[in-house]
Amino acid sequence: MRSLLADWIALDERYQGDRPRVRPVRSVRCGDAPLVFTAPHAVRHVRAGVLKKADIRTGGLAEALARHTGGAALTSLGRLAADPNFDDAETPFRKRLLRTLRPGQLVLDLHGMEDRHGVDVVIGLGARPDRRSRAAAAALQRILVAAGMTVRAGHPFPATHPGTVTSTVQAAGFSALQVELAARRRRPLRDPEGALPLLTAIVAWAAVA
Ligand SMILES: [Zn+2]
Repeated sequence: MRSLLADWIALDERYQGDRPRVRPVRSVRCGDAPLVFTAPHAVRHVRAGVLKKADIRTGGLAEALARHTGGAALTSLGRLAADPNFDDAETPFRKRLLRTLRPGQLVLDLHGMEDRHGVDVVIGLGARPDRRSRAAAAALQRILVAAGMTVRAGHPFPATHPGTVTSTVQAAGFSALQVELAARRRRPLRDPEGALPLLTAIVAWAAVA
């Protein structure tokens, strides 16, 4: 399982730059598993005219998860002029995601929150969760808790805003859920003991999702 952490660290390197890109969306497919790990906030982005900081390490995490589950990853690169998890207008990220999705696929939209929320993970069900989204959320919560993490559903990140990746995917007829991950679980280099349980739990979840 150490290779999981090493992959996370190595795969995250491309998200550390802050240069706007001609192609701000990166798509990776590692196998036939019906899972797409998304990290729209992997890099800094502008929301309502304000430059927001990145959800640190979520880009490398999405790619590491795709690699170790045989799924796919869709991530943001460079610096974004729009917020793919907020703006009402069609963003390049959501457009690309909807174009690549196939029937039967499930999106796990990865985000980073600050530690002050008091739990390790907040699961957002989105505006229109179908049966599979609900079942996947329940399974994820069960597996994370069994791995020693604290988990809450909904507040304060329900992902119900229509501009979220999760709600956009659901409105298009697919399954999706959002996870907000505490900063203390996203330091694979400085705090491997904090990061590894999260990573292994999501890989275990992928086998049943
Ligand atoms: Zn985010």
